[in-house]
Amino acid sequence: MEKHQVVIVGSGPAGYTAAIYAARANLKPVLFSGLQPGGQLTITTDVENYPGFPKGILGPEMMDLFRGQAERFGTQVIDDVVTRVDLRERPFLVEWHASSMRAEAVIIATGASAKWLDLPSEKLLSGHGVSACATCDGFFFRGKEIGVVGGGDTAMEEALFLTKMAAKVTVIHRRHDLRASKVMQQRALANPKIAWAWNQEVVEILGDKKIGVTGVTTRDTTTGELRNLLLNGLFIAIGHEPNTQLFRGQLETDPVGYIKIQAGTTKTSVPGVFAAGDAADPSYRQAVTAAGTGCMAAIDAERFLSSGGAH
Ligand code: FAD
Ligand code: NAP
Repeated sequence: MEKHQVVIVGSGPAGYTAAIYAARANLKPVLFSGLQPGGQLTITTDVENYPGFPKGILGPEMMDLFRGQAERFGTQVIDDVVTRVDLRERPFLVEWHASSMRAEAVIIATGASAKWLDLPSEKLLSGHGVSACATCDGFFFRGKEIGVVGGGDTAMEEALFLTKMAAKVTVIHRRHDLRASKVMQQRALANPKIAWAWNQEVVEILGDKKIGVTGVTTRDTTTGELRNLLLNGLFIAIGHEPNTQLFRGQLETDPVGYIKIQAGTTKTSVPGVFAAGDAADPSYRQAVTAAGTGCMAAIDAERFLSSGGAH
C-alpha cells in the first residue's frame, strides 16, 4: 500500500493552506478535495474581507487560486471523498472510493456546514440576499431591513452584529421562547433596532437573483396564518454542523462534534493527527482563520515528523 508523510482531508482555505506549507516543507502532501472542491467559499459570490484582495474577489475564483498555489509546489490533489480513516495506529489508514493509503500524519480540514431551512427559494437566493454569515455578508446590507431566522445564541449574535449596519433587524423565531443564553437574550431584547416576529416559520423567501430578496412569507406556528414581511436580506442562523462524522469515536470532540485541539496548536487527541479550519472552530469560522490554522497544522505536522513522532 502507498505510504505518504502527510494526507490532508479537505480543500477549503484550511486544507489548501496546509498543503502549500507542507509542500514547501518537502512533505509531498496528498490532499483529498471531497464533495465540495474549494469548500464553502465556492457557494458564495464576493469575498470582501480576505486580505490581499482590496477590490474583493469571487469565492470560487479565490479557491481556484488557492488550489493553483498548492499544486504549484507539488501537492497531489485527489478529487475524491475519504470514506474511512483508522487512526488507532501509525501510519494511519485512509480509504477512499477507489483505493486506500497510509499516512504518517493526517491533517483534518473538513470544514463545517451551516444548517439551512431547505426551501427551494433559499437555495435560489443564496448569495443573492440570503446568507448564513453576518460577518461575511452584513456589509452588503448597510441601511437596509434584514431578517434573521433562529432563536439561539448564533441568531442573537448575528442580529446584534447586523444592527451595526442595518436600519432594522427582525428576528424570526418559530416559538415565543428563545433558546439563547440569558445574557445574549437580554442584549438582543434591549436593542432598539431589533424587532421580533414570534411564532413564525419562514415558508418562502421572495425575490429573484436580479433584484435580490424582497421579503419572506411566514406561517404562524400557533394559528397557521400566512403573512408577508418586507425585507432586503435574510440571514439563516439556525446552527452549524462540523463535518467530522468520519472521525467520531476516534478523536475527542465537543458535544456538537467540533474536534478538540490543544490550545494554541492544531494537535488533536491522537498524536500525528492535526485539525484546522471550521472543523475545529466553533467560534470564528472565517476563511482567514481557516487558512491561518491550516498553516499551523502543516507546521505542527512537519515538527511532529521531524522529531520522530513527539507530540
Ligand atoms: P470548508 O471551506 O468548509 O471546506 C471543507 C472541505 O472539506 C471541502 O473541500 C469538502 O469537500 C472537504 N471534505 C469534507 N468531508 C470530506 C471527506 N470526507 N473527504 C474529503 N474531503 C472532505 N468567510 C470569510 O472569511 N469571508 C466571507 O466572505 C465568507 N463568506 C461565506 C459565505 C458563505 C455562503 C459561507 C457558507 C461561508 C462563508 N465564509 C466566509 C466562511 C468560510 O467559507 C469558512 O470559514 C471557510 O471556508 C472554512 O474553511 P475550511 O477550510 O475549514 O472548510
Ligand atoms: P442552537 O442553540 O441549536 O439554536 C438553533 C436555533 O435555531 C433554535 O432557536 C431553533 O429553534 C432554531 N431552529 C433550528 N432549526 C430550525 C428550522 N429548521 N427552522 C427554524 N428555526 C430553527 O444553535 P446555535 O444558536 O447555533 O448555538 C449552538 C451552540 O453554540 C450553543 O451551545 C450556543 O450556546 C453556542 N453559541 C454561543 C455563542 C455565544 O456565546 N456568543 C454564540 C453562538 C453559538 P428552537 O429553539 O425552536 O429549537
